[in-house]
Amino acid sequence: MARSFDAVVVGAGLIGLFAAWNLARRGKTVLVAERGTIACGTTGASFAWLNATSKTEPDYHRLNAEGLARHLELARLWGERTMGMGGAGVLTWGEPEATITLDDLAHQALALKDLHYPCLWLDRDELPAFEPRVAFGGMAEGLFAPRDRWLDAPILARHLAREIAAAGGEVREDAPVTAIARNASGAIEGVTVAGQTLACSQVLLAAGPGTPEAIAMAGEEAAALVPVRRVPGLLVTLPADGARTIVNHILYAPDRGNFHIRPMADGSLLLGDDAVDAMIGDGNDPALLPAAVRALLEVAAGHLPDLLVADLLPHARAAVGVRPVPGDGRTIAGALPGIDGLFVAATHSGITLAPLLGELLAGEMIDGSRAPLLANFRPERFASG
Ligand SMILES: Cc1cc2nc3c(=O)[nH]c(=O)nc-3n(C[C@H](O)[C@H](O)[C@H](O)COP(=O)(O)OP(=O)(O)OC[C@H]3O[C@@H](n4cnc5c(N)ncnc54)[C@H](O)[C@@H]3O)c2cc1C
Repeated sequence: MARSFDAVVVGAGLIGLFAAWNLARRGKTVLVAERGTIACGTTGASFAWLNATSKTEPDYHRLNAEGLARHLELARLWGERTMGMGGAGVLTWGEPEATITLDDLAHQALALKDLHYPCLWLDRDELPAFEPRVAFGGMAEGLFAPRDRWLDAPILARHLAREIAAAGGEVREDAPVTAIARNASGAIEGVTVAGQTLACSQVLLAAGPGTPEAIAMAGEEAAALVPVRRVPGLLVTLPADGARTIVNHILYAPDRGNFHIRPMADGSLLLGDDAVDAMIGDGNDPALLPAAVRALLEVAAGHLPDLLVADLLPHARAAVGVRPVPGDGRTIAGALPGIDGLFVAATHSGITLAPLLGELLAGEMIDGSRAPLLANFRPERFASG
C-alpha cells in the first residue's frame, strides 16, 4: 500500500524547510522531497542579506521586515552561530555623481522613517570611522540600517532538517518529484517521489527557480498562475586565507551594479554586483566566469583599495545562483485556486522571507485560513479576466 502523508513539500530550500518544520511541529505528517541535496538550489548560492532596507513599497517592506523579525526571534532561541547568522547592519552610501545620489538616499531614509524601520544618517566625517577601509568619495554620505543581518543559509537549512526530524517529519534527498496526482474533482491525492507513489492530500511547491516545471506537473491552469523567471547571479567567495575580513558590515555601494560585499561565518568575504551578472549570460557557460570574476574583483578594489586583484584572483571561488523572480517581481505565496490541496511559494528575497512564509503557509495548509499579510501576494493576481 502507498505510504501516506498529510503533506509533501517539494524542495529542501529554506522556504520548503521552514514550511515543513512548521507543519511537523504542529502535528502533521510531512515529507520534504528534494531532488538533489539540502540547500543545493538557490538557497546554497545566495548573497543572503536579511533585509527590509532596500524595499520601500509598504506591503512588501512589511513582509520583509516581518521575515527579518522572525529570523531574529529564532536567533534568540537557537543562537546566531547555529543559524549561520551574523553581521550587525547594512551600510549604503550615496555620492553626487553615483547611481545612488544623495537625494535618492535621503528619499530612502525618509521612506524607512515613515515605515518605522530603524536607520541612521552618517555624514562624510562619520563614514570613514565606520568602515575605515572603504574609499568613500569626498562628498559621500551614508545610511546605516542596524537591524539587517546576513545568513550563511545552508547552515540554517541543515539545522532545520534536524529540527524537522526531531518533530517527526522527514527530509529525503535524491528524491525528485516527477508527478502530482489529482482525483476526479481535481483535488491533490498523491505524488510520485523517486519512482514511488505516495498518498497525500496537500502539496507545497517550494521549488525555487524550478517552479515552472514543478507546477506544470499539476496542470496548465496552475502553471499560468505562477509565472517565474530565472535570473542568474555571480557570487565570489574570497576564502579567509586569501583575504582578511576587511569590512565590518554588509556594504551596498552606490555604483551602477550596486556592488555588495559582506563577511561570512568562517571569516571569508562574499561579493556580488548586478552589472557584472550581465556578463554570465544564462549562467550555464563556465567559460564566461573568469572574466566576470576578474571584473567583480576590479569593482571591489575600486571601493576597497586593500583588495589587490592579482593577489586575490587565485583564491577567488565563483558560484552561480539562479534567482526565482515572479512575473511582477513580487512574492507569490498561497493556495492555487481551483486545485484543492495545492500550495506554492516562489519569490526573490526568499532567504529573508522564508521563516515568515513557512509559518504562514503551514497555517493556511492546516486550518484553511488566509493570512492578511499575504493578501497582495497571492497567485490569483495573475488570473486573466
Ligand atoms: C545571486 C543571488 C543573490 C541573492 N541575494 C539575496 C539576498 O541578499 N537576500 C535574500 O533574501 N534573497 C536573496 N536571493 C534570493 C534567495 O536566495 C531565493 O529567493 C531563495 O533562496 C529561494 O529559496 P527557495 O527555497 O524558494 O528555493 P531553492 O533554494 O532553489 O530550493 C528549491 C529546491 O527545490 C528543489 N526542486 C526543484 N524541483 C524539484 C522536484 N521536481 N523534485 C524535488 N525537488 C525539486 C531544488 O533542487 C531546490 O533544492 C538571492 C539569490 C541569488 C541567486
